[in-house]
Order: sequence, then C-alpha cells, then structure tokens
Amino acid sequence: MKLLEEYIRTYGEVPNDDVLKVDAFLNHQIDTRLMMQLAEDFKEHFKDQKITKIVTIETSGIAPCVFLGYLLHVPVVYMKKNPSKIMTDDCYHTNIHSFTKDRDYEIVISKKYISSEDNVLFIDDFMANGEACLGAIRVLKEAQATICGIGIVIEKAFQSGRKQVQALGYDVYAQARIASLKNGTIVFVE
Ligand code: 5GP
Repeated sequence: MKLLEEYIRTYGEVPNDDVLKVDAFLNHQIDTRLMMQLAEDFKEHFKDQKITKIVTIETSGIAPCVFLGYLLHVPVVYMKKNPSKIMTDDCYHTNIHSFTKDRDYEIVISKKYISSEDNVLFIDDFMANGEACLGAIRVLKEAQATICGIGIVIEKAFQSGRKQVQALGYDVYAQARIASLKNGTIVFVE
C-alpha cells in the first residue's frame, strides 16, 4: 500500500536494525483517516471471504480492526494480554513470546465471543517472528473457528514470521513489507 509506505517513510523511526517505531500514526497516536484507508484495503483484499468476525490482539491491532469491522458489519474481538482478576469468563488461552519486550505473556479470549461457527480474519499491527500470529492461530484452532485470512499492517520481511505462518498453510497479506532497517534506513520489499 503506497500510502502506508509514505507514512512509514515520513513518520517511522528506526531505533535499531530490528525495530520500527510508528507511534505517530499507529502505536501511540492514531491517524484515523489512515486507519480507514487500511480498513478499505483489507476489505478489498479479503472480499471473497465470508468473514463473520475480526480478531486481533490488544492493543495496536484494535484501531484498524474497528474501522474494518464497521465496513464489513461484523464484530471485532481482541484477545486480552495478561488478563486481570475481573476476567472471570471461561477462556481459551496460550502463552506467546513478545518480540519487543523479550518476555512471555498470556493471551486469552472468552468462549462467549468465539466459536466453531466463526469465520475469522485475524489482523495484527506488526509481524516479526510470527509469535503473536502463531499464538492467535493456536487459540482460534482450539475454539474450532475457521481462519479465513491473516492480515498484517507492517511485516518485517527480514524476520521469520511469514515463513512460519505459511508453513501451517495460511496465507499472509501484509500492507507494507519491510526488507531492511539497517543503519536507520527503511527499505521496502519491491
Ligand atoms: P511477532 O510476534 O511476530 O514476533 O511480533 C509481532 C508483535 O510484536 C506485534 O504484535 C507488535 O506488537 C510487536 N512488534 C514486533 N516488531 C515490532 C516493531 O518493529 N515495531 C513495533 N512497534 N512493534 C513490533
């Protein structure tokens, strides 16, 4: 998506060779017009799928998903990280390793909001080594939901996420694909 690439070029920060910061429009401040454009693009890409629910992981996946859910007239469910004591519902859960925080955390989703009837589009803000996506797939499979697509806003294609997820037979659609962040320079996949 050319518009997203322009945003990344203009506002993206590269603190080291592995990490891209996009706090200016996605991970801290949210550019609502861009979120709608991302949602339109996901809608177009997944137009042949009969999506009943969009699933993401809190926090940064939520913004584009809400716009997409609105466009598709379907609910958005976000998996909660490290749930608090007030999360008393019966849940599906798994542990995943955080790339940015370098520690494990738990994600949970209430059995009330996911079932074998669901045809799920899973969306996340970033894909690095695929841990978050693979964790979400484990949980969705346990719920016997069908996964009809995986959409990522920014894929760091120099990390192993796509390969791991594709090895399970899922296709990954990424709106921007980064080939390298070496020496502070953002290079996109051609
Ligand atoms: P993965 O689980 O694929 O290894 O990493 C993806 C998750 O880690 C995303 O949900 C995102 O929150 C975070 N993440 C990974 N790499 C980056 C990055 O370069 N920048 C930001 N802002 N988040 C990232």
